[in-house]
Amino acid sequence: KNVVVAIDGYSSCGKSTLAKALAKKLGFIYIDSGAMYRAVTLYFIRNHTNVSDEAAVIDALQHIELNFHSRDYESHITLNGEEVSEEIRQMPVSETVSEISALKQVRKEMVKQQQRMGKSKNIVMDGRDIGTTVFPDAQVKLFMTADPKVRAERRFKELQSKGDTTTSLEDVFENLAHRDYADTTRKESPLVRAEDAIILDNTEITPVEQLEFALNKVTP
Ligand code: C5P
Repeated sequence: KNVVVAIDGYSSCGKSTLAKALAKKLGFIYIDSGAMYRAVTLYFIRNHTNVSDEAAVIDALQHIELNFHSRDYESHITLNGEEVSEEIRQMPVSETVSEISALKQVRKEMVKQQQRMGKSKNIVMDGRDIGTTVFPDAQVKLFMTADPKVRAERRFKELQSKGDTTTSLEDVFENLAHRDYADTTRKESPLVRAEDAIILDNTEITPVEQLEFALNKVTP
């Protein structure tokens, strides 16, 4: 049977950094489930989708095709054939994604696609509900946390390195706090640690140490 590693946790806790490194080391496929919610959000923003109209949401979802292209274990996502990996990381999407990902129809469709991707392949998938809803039977489950200030600083640096000069550290901190609140309190599969998930607090440990920790859980 294929192996699934599920990595969940709060926003900007280093989930994707660890997931990528782990996938690379193990030769597994890395899937960034957050990128899917972000790409859907971008589509909704661009098309002014009325999110309080369930029929409009269902219709929009039928017009969205998402695909991953892996290059050097950097995951790239396309939205209806267009490369959107950079645009989905920018603030307009970050500010709206938690509202969009709380929609029942959106989650239903994303979970279906994610389960299909992990059906027969060895994968590492990171997100918010991977160990609880998408793959409750995943062989390895990690739940990542880190100090909110450290998380904001990391994400702020990342945005700056991408040339964003308008977003302040406070903006980033508030966005993370907002998303954590929305993600943990929503009705549809809220962010919660699966009972059998191992907690990994990465506030003070390096990416290399995190990788070692995770590898020990996959191949004890
Ligand atoms: O992982 P990332 O921070 O890019 O995810 C962006 C947002 O997508 C999260 O704040 C959350 O609202 C949503 N998300 C989700 N379920 C997942 C992955 C992401 O609801 N499995």
